[in-house]
Amino acid sequence: MDRRAFIKMGSALVVVTSVGCNLRTQKGVSRQYAITIDSNRSIGHLAREAVGREVSQDLSTDVLIVGGGIAGLAAACSLKDRESIICELGARFGGTSSAVSIGNQQFSQGAHYDLSYPSFYGREGLELLEQLNIIEYNSKVGRWDFIDKQHLIKSKIEERCYKNGEVFSSVLVDSELKLNFLDLMQPYEGRMPLPTTQIAPEDLALDQLSFAAYLNKYLPVTSDFMEAVDYQMIDDYGGRADQVSALAGVHYYRCRPYYANPEPEIFSPTEGNFYFIEKMMKHLQPEQMKASSLVVGLEKLKKGWGVDVWEVEQERKVRYRCNNVVYAGQKHLLKYLHADGYKTFSDVIYAPWIVINIELEGDDLGKSIWQNDYLSSNAQFLGFVNSGAQTEEGNRVLTAYYCYPDVYHHMVQDVENGAEEIVEQTIGFINTYFKQDIRSFVKHVYVKLLGHAMPMPVPGYLSKNRRLELDGMTFAGADTGRLPLMFDALDSGIQAGRLIGDKG
Ligand SMILES: Cc1cc2nc3c(=O)[nH]c(=O)nc-3n(C[C@H](O)[C@H](O)[C@H](O)COP(=O)(O)OP(=O)(O)OC[C@H]3O[C@@H](n4cnc5c(N)ncnc54)[C@H](O)[C@@H]3O)c2cc1C
Repeated sequence: MDRRAFIKMGSALVVVTSVGCNLRTQKGVSRQYAITIDSNRSIGHLAREAVGREVSQDLSTDVLIVGGGIAGLAAACSLKDRESIICELGARFGGTSSAVSIGNQQFSQGAHYDLSYPSFYGREGLELLEQLNIIEYNSKVGRWDFIDKQHLIKSKIEERCYKNGEVFSSVLVDSELKLNFLDLMQPYEGRMPLPTTQIAPEDLALDQLSFAAYLNKYLPVTSDFMEAVDYQMIDDYGGRADQVSALAGVHYYRCRPYYANPEPEIFSPTEGNFYFIEKMMKHLQPEQMKASSLVVGLEKLKKGWGVDVWEVEQERKVRYRCNNVVYAGQKHLLKYLHADGYKTFSDVIYAPWIVINIELEGDDLGKSIWQNDYLSSNAQFLGFVNSGAQTEEGNRVLTAYYCYPDVYHHMVQDVENGAEEIVEQTIGFINTYFKQDIRSFVKHVYVKLLGHAMPMPVPGYLSKNRRLELDGMTFAGADTGRLPLMFDALDSGIQAGRLIGDKG
């Protein structure tokens, strides 16, 4: 890889390292709060540093896994019989399922929930979750339930939606149109599994048109209704209904029996899906996990692979010789690491996200609702999660989410230079929601910038035939043509592990 390509790769990296801390006073409010920014900015510098360095040590392993998100860790779990190490560029594992420590607890800085799994979901993902003691089969209702019941969200405090000064019980407001919409989705009940690789070929036709085009074909949709559907599509897929496929849209509403009795359980610990990350890490050996380790070179050798890794803390470059590689990092970086591998993923579009955890101290907000949706003229702001609905311990943390169009990668990175503006804007939205000023309770704000966070399931994305094995390197991750969901990322890792495991 040449120097320019390397610098570009560095500036495009997603996961974050540097911390900034500002204290500021609000006009008329005596409280000061600190802002900690978790950003990838310093990675570019680190990557440049690595370019001119000599390899300081030659090491070896059987399988090297690039990326310590859900997919990379699942690959390591599925390769338990083989020697493997996982290189993760972040100081913490987790990727878009990571968390931040606040007080004695951890709070999600990305994926924050999952739902109990129907019995028609893929066997291998369910087996791994069972093996990790996360789920157990509930034969009374025929589904897989979570074992740690303390993390389940009670249905009466599940959701509230703020829209133009009014409060509703859900984003899709009850109406005749909603009933017709649900009727339209009904035939797909039980036909929208995870992993998405198990969707029946006859349903893949839905991948050829956008969800908006599909709805317009069958329903007299109104602009209000489409605004609500757009909100839900952005929330889960990073794109509006006219951007994502009808297959992704139908999957969203029918991957679980949401309107059945009992409804699926919502599982949301304060640390969100970092819960799954920790479970997998405990299943592996500590020496397998190399944090702050940025993979900067991938070379196919006559036999096996040579992988260059920049160890951020030791400030040194090491080279691993290995038999196989599982590449579970974001695929846009393959442009700089392995041009041939990139070809199969060059169509993937990523939505950038910003996650803001606001720690409050001594607040008087009272009753807590878990998911607080917020529909307004600012389409990027997607509301917030209230930790008061997850735990009664410690300070309350409100976790706000923003999703941006894919062209905003750099804008999201630039927030590092002026996070006060977005923090103040967020507090403003939350004030409107609660109809009171929360500023005097704000103790500390944590801002996480995720440049290439969510692969968007545009038409053609889910059904495209991709080459997932190349000369002993396999590809894992939600961005291998899967939906940006925990179970799909998990399964992609299992399959990538099996693909090389089978070959030996
Ligand atoms: C804001 C947000 C909210 C979400 N909410 C939910 C939710 O509630 N429920 C749900 O099911 N899903 C949710 N998702 C989707 C879910 O987070 C993802 O599908 C899943 O975590 C993806 O895991 P992954 O391993 O495929 O990728 P990632 O999490 O992106 O992990 C890739 C890892 O590779 C590392 N990496 C990349 N390049 C290199 C390199 N060169 N060297 C070393 N390491 C490298 C990265 O640092 C990263 O840790 C959400 C996503 C986002 C962005």
